[in-house]
Amino acid sequence: MTRFIFITGGVVSSLGKGLASAALGALLQARGYSVRLRKLDPYLNVDPGTMSPFQHGEVYVTDDGAETDLDLGHYERFTGVPSRQSDNVTTGRIYSDVIAKERRGDYLGATVQVIPHVTDAIKEFVQEDLNGEDFVLCEIGGTVGDIESLPFLEAIRQLGNELGPDCSMFMHLTLVPFIAAAGELKTKPTQHSVKELLGLGIQPHVLICRMEQQMPEAERRKIALFCNVRQDSVIPGLDVDSIYAVPMAYHEQGLDTVVCHHFRLPIDKKPSLRIWSDIVEAVRKPEGQVTIAVVGKYVQLPDAYKSLSEALTHGGIANNVEVKLDWIDSEIFEREDVVQHLDHVHGILVPGGFGERGSEGKIKAVQFARERNVPYFGICFGMQMAVIEAARNIAGLAGASSTEFGHAKDPVVGLMTEWSKGEDVEQRGEEDDLGGTMRLGAYPCDLLPGTRVADIYRSSSVSERHRHRYEVNIGYREELEQAGLKFSGLSPDAILPEIVEYEDHPWFIGVQFHPELKSKPFDPHPLFTSFIAAAVAQSRLV
Ligand code: GLN
Repeated sequence: MTRFIFITGGVVSSLGKGLASAALGALLQARGYSVRLRKLDPYLNVDPGTMSPFQHGEVYVTDDGAETDLDLGHYERFTGVPSRQSDNVTTGRIYSDVIAKERRGDYLGATVQVIPHVTDAIKEFVQEDLNGEDFVLCEIGGTVGDIESLPFLEAIRQLGNELGPDCSMFMHLTLVPFIAAAGELKTKPTQHSVKELLGLGIQPHVLICRMEQQMPEAERRKIALFCNVRQDSVIPGLDVDSIYAVPMAYHEQGLDTVVCHHFRLPIDKKPSLRIWSDIVEAVRKPEGQVTIAVVGKYVQLPDAYKSLSEALTHGGIANNVEVKLDWIDSEIFEREDVVQHLDHVHGILVPGGFGERGSEGKIKAVQFARERNVPYFGICFGMQMAVIEAARNIAGLAGASSTEFGHAKDPVVGLMTEWSKGEDVEQRGEEDDLGGTMRLGAYPCDLLPGTRVADIYRSSSVSERHRHRYEVNIGYREELEQAGLKFSGLSPDAILPEIVEYEDHPWFIGVQFHPELKSKPFDPHPLFTSFIAAAVAQSRLV
């Protein structure tokens, strides 16, 4: 029997709904249940692929090539369950499907309306592509009261009614602010938010109240009374020092017990939370510290590199060190000397990126890392910049560049118009739409025996996730390898360069894919573990 838990948020955004959902997923797993987490996003974009990272943070990519909300990254990092296309939907996708059906005549002359046609499409999505999981946790993006969320809230209201309380539950996150002048916690915004939900026909069964201080019993009683929930179902959600402490914190406040109680599941056995206490212990008591410079473009908004900063933390956990990140806007290197910014760091990472702006600064960071023997990790754009740097500064191809920036005399990075995915051939043109037209999702990569990456992965073939339009040009392989940059990972048909590395450098690896998307705190990605180990070695030198 699959049980559905619908998670909504009220009062303000950024309450940590995604983390709360992910943490509840981890707690249910720790009680032996299988889970799947899904997100319904109320915006009109068909997917977040075309949104600026400044607007929406990172685009999280799944194995099956979906460009999704960054909360899916939290879900995967906390539960280890690989997300799929069918785990994230937006208003834009629902509407485009409904309208396509209408154009085909599938509605047989009916007047197509939000209720029932749009709500039916949402309900279908929520219940589709499941494998008999014990729990489906379904988060609704946005805040209750937004016009955009209404069809989603109506759909989950209907579902709650159809499934009945034995198979469904509503969880609502709110804010309980502390008003310093009055010296009091205020429950009114929570009351109003629940009223708003009730007005839409949804009675929450459990409330998570985000707050900065412990909740006195009197406030808990008051919220329970006014919001019509049991007192033990008012769960305080206090800030914690590490996101990986969230599952234990919610467990201590009784969240998983309340959920089990609702579904009449046994609560006598305690969940095993050992993995989480080990992770938190490693985060809280590191034996050292390394500093990594992340040289990118969207550095003012850390959410733009969410999976990356988490993967670096995981690399730190694996090496028992704290990883301090120096976020550097690469454009600065086009005005100022790199040395003063990079002299003290133990590793340099150039992450994924798009567009010409700031690229010359990134190339300078690569050159610094290569010449000074500082560990370098280039991810996607960061690999492409490493290739351009090698071509220009070692192979003597002064006009080397990427066609992403316009015409290049030596296009060492260029647009691939055709490549194979399994049995299929994928094709792209210069004029294609921007949405959903990149090389997306998991692709296999063969590792050359005897290379550093083969040693790190301890394997001869791996599968990693991609999100890019341009590729390193295999036509320059010989010149670049003569310059010392070895093509150590290739697509199985040997056409697409997937990994490059220098042998005579302490640690210099560029990858065309995004390994950060698959790293988990309980299973750090081997490339991040190895990169941080190299940074630890470097920290002993400087
Ligand atoms: N802009 C580059 C491309 O499209 C790199 C993309 C990325 O770093 N994700 O190929």
